[in-house]
Amino acid sequence: MALLNVLTAPDPRLQAKALPVEKVDSSIRKLLDDLLETMYDKNGVGFASPQVGIQKRVLVVDLGERDGIQYKPLLMANPEIQWASPITQVTKEGCLSVPNYYVDIVRSLEIKVTYIDENNQHQVLNPKGLLADCIQHEIDHLNGILFIDHLSHLKRKLILSKLIREKQKR
Ligand SMILES: [Zn+2]
Repeated sequence: MALLNVLTAPDPRLQAKALPVEKVDSSIRKLLDDLLETMYDKNGVGFASPQVGIQKRVLVVDLGERDGIQYKPLLMANPEIQWASPITQVTKEGCLSVPNYYVDIVRSLEIKVTYIDENNQHQVLNPKGLLADCIQHEIDHLNGILFIDHLSHLKRKLILSKLIREKQKR
């Protein structure tokens, strides 16, 4: 496994639409493992392939232990939201590609998602709450959308201009 370099906004590579994988073979499994290792290293709970500049529809999620529930890591290729509840939830989200900003985002409370797992098996999942929020955030990355794109134009501009200034300092 290897740690990958995390892209931060603004970066055109974070706005690209990623392409589906044909199947989960050993090279995609290695990518999934590297994404997971990089996410753990940065204390993230979700991470998507475009965040390291690889435009494949691949993501990982691991909420760890929360509210007495021990979650298992989820490794997903070609995830597709088949249904999203009209009932919404508000979650304070952050993103490894938008470091140090945490903002309330409105998303569906529950979704139905299909995907291919790390063993190249088709799966269906009906996550609710934080897990549903996290998967929706990561699937957005595959479509070139960041969580700040859900904010008003003004709020997004404010965060992006601060991120640009921070990049210039480095
Ligand atoms: Zn993110």
